Amino acid sequence: MEHIPCLIIGAGPSGYTAAIYAARAELKPVMYTGPQPGGQLMITNDVENFPGYPDGVMGPQMMEDLRKQAERFGTSVRYGTVSEVDFSKRPFVVTIDGSDKIQADTVIISTGASAKWLGLPSEQHLNGKGVSACAVCDGFFFRGQEVAIVGAGDTACEEAHYLSKMCKKVTMLVRRDEFRASKIMQQRVLNTPNIEVLFNTETLEVLGSEGVTGVRVKNSATGAVTDIPVTGFFVAIGHQPNTAFLKGWLDMDDQGYIKTVPGTTQTSVPGVFAAGDVQDQIYRQAVTAAGTGCMAALEAERFLAAVESEHAIDAL
Ligand code: NDP
Repeated sequence: MEHIPCLIIGAGPSGYTAAIYAARAELKPVMYTGPQPGGQLMITNDVENFPGYPDGVMGPQMMEDLRKQAERFGTSVRYGTVSEVDFSKRPFVVTIDGSDKIQADTVIISTGASAKWLGLPSEQHLNGKGVSACAVCDGFFFRGQEVAIVGAGDTACEEAHYLSKMCKKVTMLVRRDEFRASKIMQQRVLNTPNIEVLFNTETLEVLGSEGVTGVRVKNSATGAVTDIPVTGFFVAIGHQPNTAFLKGWLDMDDQGYIKTVPGTTQTSVPGVFAAGDVQDQIYRQAVTAAGTGCMAALEAERFLAAVESEHAIDAL
């Protein structure tokens, strides 16, 4: 069985940054990309908030650049999805696509989180053409325009407030007759003059063919169906961390996000590190993911050095 010093699972900004650092530290990292190489940025158009790109960059281009940079220093980028792990002892054993196995002294998990969607065909069709799951990433493209956002949690409130600063009007579509968000976030939304909150409102369809022109909603109390003209439609109904294959091996919170020691990327298993959105449900930005990817690689390097010196002492 192949035995490597450092395995990276997942190919988003955190995974590639971990790969760049690990490769430059001569850990000869192997990366398995997972089912969506490039992660969430592959479904984003322009990225204008990643430092160092004054003219912005297309999400897929940025991921291609990161892959090349990781490979330039010797990362072996492989297409395949980790289906199982055995973290009971080191070296860890990881199964790829249900068959191939690889042994690794350290593992960096950077499998990210996936935005939840309503599941409407029109939402899928217009994804990236006015439909977005990230206001911070895409809100700027709708400045001066009218947009709608669906969701009632802290994220939806935060994003509605963010959008209200640049958009003419934000209509918030809340499916029940109350918010889920904390009181302070609710107040912030309710006190913002250009945010209108529609309670008991279900989204039936996003309207438009090559771009969003509106949203069709139904009032669940009255049954009335209305079309609201908007050019942007934001979905903020939560995220799902991609950790199903790790259940039972690592400490996670009740939503499946991996718990790390604060200020580090260390998980509950020494030698296993977590970076990016898989351990962060607050910031969820490419740049914060990249930052934790760097931390994970540095911590993996230190971990391997410590294990090596322990072995050297044992051998005396
Ligand atoms: P949440 O799971 O808290 O909220 C999801 C919201 O989406 C709920 O209001 C839910 O409605 C709604 N929803 C789910 N499915 C649908 C659907 N099909 N149609 C319409 N609405 C739907 O997710 P968040 O991303 O808001 O927050 C995740 C966690 O992160 C929370 O613990 C939150 O507190 C935290 N967070 C904290 C922040 C902060 O402190 N600044 C910022 C952002 C997040 P319903 O209420 O009816 O179930």
